[in-house]
Amino acid sequence: MSEKTDALCRLQSLDTKLKIVEGDKLYRNYDVQKKQNHIQQKKGELSKISEEIKTFYKKISSKELDLKSLEADIGKLRLQMNQIKTNKEFGATKLEIGGKEANKSVIEDEILKLMTVYEEMQQRHKTSEKEIKQEELQLEELKKKVDVDLKTLENEIDELKKKRAGYEAGLDKDVLQQYQRLVSHKDAVAVVGVVNKVCQGCYMSITSQTLNKLMTDRDLTFCHSCGRILYLDNGKE
Ligand SMILES: [Zn+2]
Repeated sequence: MSEKTDALCRLQSLDTKLKIVEGDKLYRNYDVQKKQNHIQQKKGELSKISEEIKTFYKKISSKELDLKSLEADIGKLRLQMNQIKTNKEFGATKLEIGGKEANKSVIEDEILKLMTVYEEMQQRHKTSEKEIKQEELQLEELKKKVDVDLKTLENEIDELKKKRAGYEAGLDKDVLQQYQRLVSHKDAVAVVGVVNKVCQGCYMSITSQTLNKLMTDRDLTFCHSCGRILYLDNGKE
């Protein structure tokens, strides 16, 4: 392998490492975001439950008002009964009280049922609140861990970048430019091996002229099909 190609190979492997570490950094940040989104969603659900509880409470209060007014009616009718002179009137009032008592027990049943659901809702609210608190604690822990990881990754990135700058300094300007041009056009793979006379970038056979150049030339050799920089891969890489 020519010296220039060798240097570019090393540069490329550094760039690959850099990309991996930068990807790791992104993923670590994503972990925190995922957790934050999850908590946000749970908070949304919690406020929905709160609204439901409020609406339900109003329903119960209005039923309780109905009950009170029925009780007041019944009380009044009972007082009236004391002053009734005729049997007929007495019977009619008694019947009316009976009707109101029946209504009252229906409403009481309804309130009881509503109360059961109401208590369930409150329990759900409490559970959800507890879960959110737990998850927020977990988030804090995660953030601490991620911060440490990010610092490590950033140090790694800095190291790689420093190393890269060193490599760059040792390369010809136009060699470097050719490399950068290929990186931006060929999915970041600029330097590829040739195995059994086949370019590993585009999988086309190389010409014997190219092969000849690869074996003798000290300059860069390019694939005639894809334009990538070639080196002979004898399985040592
Ligand atoms: Zn090729």
